Amino acid sequence: MEKISIIVPCYNEEEAMPLFYDEICKTASQFEKVDFEFIFVNDGSKDRTLEVARDLAKRDKRVRYVSFSRNFGKEAAMLAGLDYSVGDYVAIMDADLQDPPSMLYEMYKGIKEEGYDCVATRRVNRDGEPPIRSFFAKCYYKLINKISKTEIVDGARDYRLMSRQMVNSILSLKEYNRFSKGIFSWVGYNTKWLEYKNVERVAGTTKWSFWKLFLYSLESIVAFSTVPLAISSIVGILFFLISMVMIIFIIVRTLAFGDPVAGWPSLVCIIFFVSGVQLFGIGVIGQYLSKLYLEVKGRPVYIVKETEKDKK
Ligand code: UDP
Ligand code: MG
Repeated sequence: MEKISIIVPCYNEEEAMPLFYDEICKTASQFEKVDFEFIFVNDGSKDRTLEVARDLAKRDKRVRYVSFSRNFGKEAAMLAGLDYSVGDYVAIMDADLQDPPSMLYEMYKGIKEEGYDCVATRRVNRDGEPPIRSFFAKCYYKLINKISKTEIVDGARDYRLMSRQMVNSILSLKEYNRFSKGIFSWVGYNTKWLEYKNVERVAGTTKWSFWKLFLYSLESIVAFSTVPLAISSIVGILFFLISMVMIIFIIVRTLAFGDPVAGWPSLVCIIFFVSGVQLFGIGVIGQYLSKLYLEVKGRPVYIVKETEKDKK
């Protein structure tokens, strides 16, 4: 029998988990001759998420869980889920029901009958989100798609169903700084996109502040584009050319008109400007260097403290 693995990253989701479980059971019962496993990944929650997961695992043998030693972030939680999953198809879903489980059947058909390797979802609107956040999100997607060869789809969710083959390809990417939206796209395969209207979370609160999202977007740019590095070299070359023109101009002027001492303020301005540009360039290099440093250290992306097998 075929098996579908559902991966659910959970960080402080004690309220949402039981609701999610009920929904996903309803969805699972629509499938005929398909086995399920639900993998809850407890990402170092500070509430009773782990207890809820243990409880569900005791009641239902389809439920499995992986619990981290601390909070490692959603990227790590998704990776752990993929590592632990054994299904022929694997789906990733948020615990807050913002990824409607009811779409799963259509996704399954997309792979099974239409021959896609992956069926992914994207939100077509951003209702219920602060306007300023939507604005920055739009700008971000425009920018990253200009400077990265890997397409990052606007409004794409992490909610998707993938074939085992695609999951194995994703797992073969061993990078430490993981940006899944980029990785999903980078590995290729035929992806079908389903669109849906944004749903608000059922319980609990969002884990993403504006600042966190901003840092995440910077990380994704560093992970999937080297254009910022090129920009600093281009700016460097441009400044070199400008300064050559200026030097020639000044030499000619001095020869022609002598050298009245003036221009101290403009000199200071130029020094400030150029050193600012230099610092910017160094900062960009620093960003890449810091990522390189983390990659080279080769630390694991997550550390598991407990799984459902430990309690049986
Ligand atoms: N999440 C996680 N680790 C984190 C932050 C979030 O596993 O450090 C999970 C969270 O429990 C949820 C999903 O990632 O299932 C999406 O988080 P959230 O709903 O807060 O994000 P939003 O939908 O607001 O973008
Ligand atoms: Mg959410």
